[in-house]
Amino acid sequence: MLRVIETFTSLQGESTYAGAPCFFIRLAGCNLRCSYCDTVYAQETGQPLSIDQLLEITELEKLRWNGHSLNGDILPIVEVTGGEPMIQEETPLLLKRLCEAGYTVLLETNGSIALDKVDPRVHKIVDVKVPSSGESGKNLSACLEKLSPHDEIKFVLGSLEDYHWVKKFLEARLALSQKNTVLLSWYDMSNSVPKGEHPISRTELAEFIIRDALPVRMQVQLHKILWPDIERGR
Ligand code: SF4
Repeated sequence: MLRVIETFTSLQGESTYAGAPCFFIRLAGCNLRCSYCDTVYAQETGQPLSIDQLLEITELEKLRWNGHSLNGDILPIVEVTGGEPMIQEETPLLLKRLCEAGYTVLLETNGSIALDKVDPRVHKIVDVKVPSSGESGKNLSACLEKLSPHDEIKFVLGSLEDYHWVKKFLEARLALSQKNTVLLSWYDMSNSVPKGEHPISRTELAEFIIRDALPVRMQVQLHKILWPDIERGR
């Protein structure tokens, strides 16, 4: 059994699949407590569902998309997220079963748990925690070293200090951005600025990337723009 917070269809928001129709399976629980967490409710207990039940729910949603595909990916693509999905023992099996069923599968993970058991067909999106998250000490370098070329690395940042930290991080690991897409995802920290930090705007982040010739892809958190007042199910 897996503990599940919610399943829903939306548009993928933060990866190279951004904008694609996506069925989300949000699993319960997280081992971190990031300062900017926008899914605190995922730390609740959730509802127990078997892998077979989750496959059935996913299949029902797939029927609604009538066999359509996008760039060769059957729609909807499927993302397993959290919380932190890898804290549940059965998650690797769920991912494998989804791959076997022919879905394009994304795993959003916080980079603090080993990913050796994840099916190689899964597109892993590994979040590297920046200092303003309060959890950067939990980053596991082994998660990044073993990534496949189709996996992606994401930094969620909102301050000048975070930006400089990310820049140094990437300069010290040049091979990372040569092998994997690196995403910089801006969030607005202007209403909750950690002590000693200086918020940057979306535009400033874009200009810094261009000025510093940083080999990254900038992202905005699409779901927050489209549904600013809806916390769950988007
Ligand atoms: S890892 Fe993700 S879900 Fe967990 S606390 Fe951080 S932002 Fe929230």
